[in-house]
Order: sequence, then C-alpha cells, then structure tokens
Amino acid sequence: MTAADHFFTARELTLGEDVAGWHRVAALAGVTEENLLLVKQVHGAAVAVASADRPRTWTRPEADVIATDDPRAAVGVRTADCVPILLAEETGRVVAAIHAGWRGLAARAPIAGVAALGQRHGVRPERLIAAIGPAIGPCCYEVGAATRDAFALAGHHSSMLERWFEPRPNGKFHLDTWRATRDQLEGAGIPSSRVHAVGLCTRTHADTFHSFRADGPAVGRMLAVIRPHAEPRTPSAERLG
Ligand SMILES: [Zn+2]
Repeated sequence: MTAADHFFTARELTLGEDVAGWHRVAALAGVTEENLLLVKQVHGAAVAVASADRPRTWTRPEADVIATDDPRAAVGVRTADCVPILLAEETGRVVAAIHAGWRGLAARAPIAGVAALGQRHGVRPERLIAAIGPAIGPCCYEVGAATRDAFALAGHHSSMLERWFEPRPNGKFHLDTWRATRDQLEGAGIPSSRVHAVGLCTRTHADTFHSFRADGPAVGRMLAVIRPHAEPRTPSAERLG
C-alpha cells in the first residue's frame, strides 16, 4: 500500500505569481511546470477535476478542491494560515488537494473533497488517507462571534461549534481549524487512524511558515502538492515466461 507522492512547502520556498520557486516545486513533484495544476481559490467548496490532457488551456477555475487521477499532473493549493489538506486513495491512484480557511470550513470544503472522490472516481472514504498540513492553530486563531454565527447559519450542529470554538474572556473565540478539519474528514467517512495532522501552527512558527496573521497582506504563500501514482503494472508476459 503506497500513498501518493506529496509535500508541503515552507517559508524557504516563497511562492508568488512570478517567483522562480514554481520551477523547483514542479521538479519536486516530478512534473513539468505546466502540469502543476492549481485553482483560483475563493474560500468555498467547489471542486475542479484536473487532467494533464490540456495543460495549456488550464485556466485555474474558481474552486477550493482540486482532484485528479492523471499521474502526469500534480495538483496543489496555496495557503498562509488556512488549512491545506491532501487526500489520496490508498493505492495513490486518485488524489485531491483542498484549501480551507474558516469560510471553507463553514462551507464544508473537506467534506466536498471526500464526496468528489467518491462521486467522480468511485473511491470509498474508508479507502482514503488524509494529511492536514501546517495551519493557524487554536493557540492563535482569534475570531469574532460573527465567524461562529456564520458556521451556525451554515447548519453546523451546536455540538460541533462547541468543539471548534473556544470562548475567550474578551467575548471572542479561538477557532480550532485543525479539529474542524479532522471532524469533517472523519464525519465524511475517513477512519480516524487514516487522518494525519502535522499539528504545527503557522503563526506560532512564523519564522518557518508563511502566516497571514503574522505577516499581513504582503504575506507569501506555501504550497501543498500531491500527485497520483500510475496504475500498478500487471506482470508482463516476458516476466511470466
Ligand atoms: Zn499558534
């Protein structure tokens, strides 16, 4: 059993729209630069399905989940405090990358990722493996009551809100995006033992990771990348003979 090749970049590899780091990322993923496929992230839960067939016409659709079963392509999401999530079917045949800040979690982006792999690629959630990368943690992510209200409005059960939002003496809350992500992935059917979280807070470790809350609007971005494996080969006639 082999998961798909994947990695999370850190601060040392700053990625902007025209930074040479993209070439290194594509090389690390083992694909050409044009086959490193991203989306235009809009803090929602829409899913894009990527293929290397027409990389030159790939125009980054508005989405926060990008899935592929094309081993010539790698898919990725960019983050700086938001949660990067990578999913792989256990053989690595089908993968997805998910971007989820508080809006994406309210919109259930992790669940949308699991559902998309089921509906479009026939992958049962219990056969998925998930990796939750560096993101702002419950130690640092203070939000106002309006954020909690947005989750309630989106229909999240009060028992979940109690798990995800810790009240603070100043009337605000600390949002635990790690727990919300894990709860959604497990709620969608991925076994707990298959959800792996790095548990590193980007703001606490702002010297290592890009953090929007620490660095402000001029912050750089990190990339979470995953690439499917090719179908396992069947033994050839020569080998059998
Ligand atoms: Zn922190």
